[in-house]
Amino acid sequence: MRAVAVYPQQREVKLVERPEPRIDGASQVKLRMLEVGVCGTDKELCAFVFGTPPAGSDHFVLGHESLCEVCDSGRDVDDLQPGDLVVGSVRLPCPDQSCPACRAGHPDFCTTGQYFEHGINRLDGFMADYVVKDRDWLHKVPLRLREVAVLVEPLTIAEKAFQEITRVQERLPWKALQRRALVLGAGAVGLLGAMKLIAAGFETSIYSLLPPPNPSAAIAASIGATYISSQMTSVSEMREQVGAIDVVYEALGAAQLAFDVLKVVSPNGIFVFTGVPRAEYLQPFDTESIIANLVLKNQAMVGIVNAGRQAFADGIRDLDLFHTRWPQALTSMITARFPMEAFLDPVMGRAGGIKNVIRIAE
Ligand SMILES: [Zn+2]
Ligand SMILES: [Zn+2]
Repeated sequence: MRAVAVYPQQREVKLVERPEPRIDGASQVKLRMLEVGVCGTDKELCAFVFGTPPAGSDHFVLGHESLCEVCDSGRDVDDLQPGDLVVGSVRLPCPDQSCPACRAGHPDFCTTGQYFEHGINRLDGFMADYVVKDRDWLHKVPLRLREVAVLVEPLTIAEKAFQEITRVQERLPWKALQRRALVLGAGAVGLLGAMKLIAAGFETSIYSLLPPPNPSAAIAASIGATYISSQMTSVSEMREQVGAIDVVYEALGAAQLAFDVLKVVSPNGIFVFTGVPRAEYLQPFDTESIIANLVLKNQAMVGIVNAGRQAFADGIRDLDLFHTRWPQALTSMITARFPMEAFLDPVMGRAGGIKNVIRIAE
């Protein structure tokens, strides 16, 4: 079968032939891969910034944003049929018996760092014709979501962030009516986060680099979010326009902008980071005022990575909801679909757009 493989030592990414995987356990499922989404993580993996092959291998298969069709399963799997659509979890538990998170079934909170991640860390990814995976880490998707279900994995980031926002805001000793959110970044994770926040009742603005018109600004308008360009509007002007900001959902990975926005978050507000910043020049800034704000305004900062089972369940439920409420906005988030042979343009970041997808099978 075909697979897109990354060779970190040789600094090569290429289409290779590999043996088709077989089911060798009662709880395993054989999957025909339909689509794999490409994101910034894949671009960094293909620039060899990080990424670790499985033990004993010099390469790993790329891809962590999956949409798969069930072809076959082991005898203990009684709730999946051939033809069913599923999306796979990305992170799997570490083997350490003393890791409380993994032992409780939450590898996205792993404490040892010895976890596995499909297509990223010590585990092959999904950019191959077939994959075999344990039933436990597959999430069934309704057939009606076939065209958009490759967005489930990026949506799980927003779902996990939302779970954290809800939990953190429960600390307030009254029922908070904090209902204004700012999303930083208008890529797929940002736009899906904006959809989630709007669906949950937040008055939502998106603050992103490019001036309108652009495809992300059009999607923002069609879901009822205010789109503000950081190129045209300073942070203090944005704050004037938006009003009190109770929740910031960061989906950009830009440190300077994050620090600048942190200064204008409201009392009792929460700032959730989902992006890992690249190295960038930072203007000298007043760290004291950031700490003073956290203290004097009861603010919270939370970082989140990856997603657990509940986030996948919530993501699939919400994707269905978004699909009904904003069908055009959701489908237009997928910029282009590429055949597997043409994987290079999207994974090298040359393709542009919001979300590019590798189409592996029809
Ligand atoms: Zn991704
Ligand atoms: Zn662990």
